[in-house]
Amino acid sequence: MINDTPQALTIAGTDSSGGAGVSADLKTFMAQGVYGGNVIVSVTAQNTRGVQEVQMIPPTVITQQIQSIADDLSISAVKTGMLGDAQTVNTVAKALQTYNFGSYILDPVMVAKGGAKLLRDEAILALKTQLLPLATMVTPNIPEAEVLTEMTIQTHEDVKIAAYKLQLLGAKNVLLKGGHGSELAVYDFVLLADGRHFWLKSQRVDTERTHGTGDTLSAAITAQLTLGLDMKTAVIKSKAYVDATIRDGIQVGHGHGPLNHLA
Ligand code: PLP
Repeated sequence: MINDTPQALTIAGTDSSGGAGVSADLKTFMAQGVYGGNVIVSVTAQNTRGVQEVQMIPPTVITQQIQSIADDLSISAVKTGMLGDAQTVNTVAKALQTYNFGSYILDPVMVAKGGAKLLRDEAILALKTQLLPLATMVTPNIPEAEVLTEMTIQTHEDVKIAAYKLQLLGAKNVLLKGGHGSELAVYDFVLLADGRHFWLKSQRVDTERTHGTGDTLSAAITAQLTLGLDMKTAVIKSKAYVDATIRDGIQVGHGHGPLNHLA
């Protein structure tokens, strides 16, 4: 038996096609050598073509799942993904304040690549006021950062300003993902808790198989922190992992296919 197995937790929604949400998180945890617990807050019927149905899980069931984990497992880092509505955001925020799961990575999932809304508008304020102040790191893409900071982001200077705003809103570290643009090079901006900041440049891969990219990046960071890495190294390693899973994609489904976690 292996002692001291590193353990992480994801609190998120399911994806029936296995590419995004909890599926992406658990595959990513495993690929980094980290055991994963999973608290389900929503069940989605979806495939690589889009989201067909969403069913939220009642707050009492979410709270009990988190308590069950807290009573037994030794979690060193936790991430949240799709949270759906304000009631769920409030439930998760309360639980994260009750139990100590170590580092908290907030992936402020709002809209799926196919356009399906994964966070109701009424939940945005709750996410900003209840979860951002608890976050060790927040990992928005540009549209999500625009919603959270209430500013338009067009230039690299705007990206920096938005990252500082997110830190002022309470997130200790910020990873602002540039992948939603159309330029050949992707620039992600990282602002660390101590004020150090840097750009991570990568080459855009010409592929449709990017379903679950955001979930995978935030899950990889969660796993690397579980393993004890410092934030800067965790982000750099996680970005390299995601790039590899995109580059070596697999053919599943007929739309935005999943990443290859065995890459
Ligand atoms: N479904 C669930 C449950 C998710 O958590 C996410 C990711 O954030 C998505 C779908 C969207 O994935 P993508 O935008 O990569 O297609």
